[in-house]
Amino acid sequence: MSNGFISAAYVVAALLFIFSLAGLSKQETAKQGNLFGMIGMAIALLTTIFDPRVSNVFIIIVAMVIGSGIGLRLANKVEMTQMPELVAILHSFVGLAAVLVGFNSYFDAGHQIIITSVQQVAMNIHLTEIFLGIFIGAVTFTGSIVAFGKLRGSISSSALMLPNRHKMNLAAGVVSIILMIVFVQNGGSNLPLFLMTAIALVFGWHLVASIGGADMPVVVSMLNSYSGWAAAAAGFMLSNDLLIITGALVGSSGAILSYIMCKAMNRSFVSVIAGGFGTDVIIDEDKDYGEHIEVQAEAVADLLRSAKSVVIAPGYGMAVAQAQYPVYEMTQQLINKGIKVRFAIHPVAGRLPGHMNVLLAEAKVPYDIVLGMDEINDDFPETDVVLVIGANDTVNPAANDDPNSPIAGMPVLEVWNAKEVIVFKRSMSTGYAGVQNPLFFKDNTQMLFGDAKETTEQIFRAL
Ligand code: NDP
Repeated sequence: MSNGFISAAYVVAALLFIFSLAGLSKQETAKQGNLFGMIGMAIALLTTIFDPRVSNVFIIIVAMVIGSGIGLRLANKVEMTQMPELVAILHSFVGLAAVLVGFNSYFDAGHQIIITSVQQVAMNIHLTEIFLGIFIGAVTFTGSIVAFGKLRGSISSSALMLPNRHKMNLAAGVVSIILMIVFVQNGGSNLPLFLMTAIALVFGWHLVASIGGADMPVVVSMLNSYSGWAAAAAGFMLSNDLLIITGALVGSSGAILSYIMCKAMNRSFVSVIAGGFGTDVIIDEDKDYGEHIEVQAEAVADLLRSAKSVVIAPGYGMAVAQAQYPVYEMTQQLINKGIKVRFAIHPVAGRLPGHMNVLLAEAKVPYDIVLGMDEINDDFPETDVVLVIGANDTVNPAANDDPNSPIAGMPVLEVWNAKEVIVFKRSMSTGYAGVQNPLFFKDNTQMLFGDAKETTEQIFRAL
């Protein structure tokens, strides 16, 4: 394969990645966007493998067959609710790959003999690339593993509050910069590189561990961005233009998404990427919220029958219970009785951006009755019944009323302004942010305990 052909193929692949991002920005064109991305990646892989500078093609193909086998099996097996975990662990692979590429380039570069000052400058640049690539890769690697654990529930979703945590983060950054200067000035030496790698691994772990559950959506998109920059750094080390372009696309789109999510959640972007800086909060676990009122499915059916306007606020629990199908059947039943039914979607409901939209689209709920938080929040006072199906943090009034709450300031669905609120969940346990929800104890709220799918089916039958 000639160099000209390789460059042309890389340009085509890069364009396809840009079309892919453009396609993914709208629900209607998302499928097409995915297809562009897949074709672009196939072109990129084939071109790289058959590049004449690449040797041991057989080993690469064997590794790819094994890797694709594992990938296909996992992707087929994964439940919708486990998707964010899968994305987080895949980010960790990108981070690890950048670390390995970095060490590989470092040991390779060690054999070069410097004669001219131009070669010296080029060497310094290459060493800086190696250092930064390994740093970003190591932070992404452990950070993504912690994010995976938090999303999977194997690590507590609440923020880890080590004493002096911000000072430790700052120290890790400053020491790493000093190590980089020593590393480059020595023309590359093992000790600063290994030391920085250890610091970056701990730093990545601590950075994500100290971010609370409610800020996890931003963390996931931030790690997505980091993984892009790690790939771009690997591209510089390998002098691979396509990897640089692709990494930069992922890095910048992830950063833009993180920024948009921070704005939607009224969070400071800098605070979240700095490991929750400025968000120290004390959770009062002994606070008395009062008594809650319990209700049965038949009584909810009676309430719905007499309502004129109903709003359904779904959350993560609806995804766990896979209740979207009976929820839509119940919705159709209510609409047939002349009741106005709409869905209220919080931007971070569930465990991945657009999670609820995907579930409702799966159940074929028409787009025109699915409204965003800003579109529906003012309508709650005129709503007779709100059904909160497996949502918790996204309907928590403490975000508005309690400045000490970990979710203080986050915009929420103001469901408590409706005449009656029914909360579908299995117990009085907290949501992902780990804070109790005062909504459950309000006079106009009743708790319908049980698996959301079963309780919705009971209402359907009673109706
Ligand atoms: P939450 O995670 O706050 O709460 C979900 C509720 O669902 C729980 O309180 C649980 O209560 C209930 N539940 C679980 N299983 C069932 C079931 N089978 N049937 C009925 N109820 C069930 O949900 P929200 O969607 O309101 O909030 C999402 C949270 O996740 C936010 O804090 C957000 O920041 C965070 N997050 C969002 C991401 C995103 O991109 N969207 C990514 C990562 C985190 P019980 O156990 O009592 O049943």
